[in-house]
Amino acid sequence: MNSIKVHDKTFVPYLKDEELQEVVKKVALDIYEDYKDEVPVFVGVLNGVIMFFADLLRHYPGECELAFLQVSSYSGTESTGIVYKKMDLTKEVKDRHIILVEDIVDTGNTIESLFEYFKNTQRPKSVKVASLLLKPEVYKKDFKIDYVGKEIPNKFVLGYGLDYDELGRNLRDLYQLEEGKINEK
Ligand code: 5GP
Repeated sequence: MNSIKVHDKTFVPYLKDEELQEVVKKVALDIYEDYKDEVPVFVGVLNGVIMFFADLLRHYPGECELAFLQVSSYSGTESTGIVYKKMDLTKEVKDRHIILVEDIVDTGNTIESLFEYFKNTQRPKSVKVASLLLKPEVYKKDFKIDYVGKEIPNKFVLGYGLDYDELGRNLRDLYQLEEGKINEK
């Protein structure tokens, strides 16, 4: 894997597709352990989740349904702290067990506000959260992320569904912003 340039920034290789698949498979089997007697609804938080979501479903050995919604809180490589709901939930989930599926949890603002939204307006039977990546140095909420694929350092990552100003989502592997460049404009 080589470094790549996207817009004005350089990204270095971080996790290869094969390593990501191992991580995703483990998350899928951990979820299955808890839900094998149920038909959970996996709710993908667009857009960043697309690759993880597809691979998670492929690795999930049980019955499940799926739904999507879209939110946004990021501008460039920094969180704005405000979570906008850009698209409504695509399915009724009242009285269902749902698993919110995120690509990455950073400050936790997005997932916390989604959790509140589901609990207060959609009335599911239960809500759990699965995230491919978690940045523990940044995440300071008490709120529990039930399934975490991998904890990563506080560096902006790109690829495998994750973008930098809309580019890079189609990269198979995961890249990290080059050392020392996180606050550079
Ligand atoms: P939070 O609300 O937890 O701060 O941020 C969650 C959302 O911000 C993620 O769903 C993702 O869209 C975006 N995000 C957070 N960290 C990164 C990152 O390192 N790279 C990219 N591309 N997006 C990120």
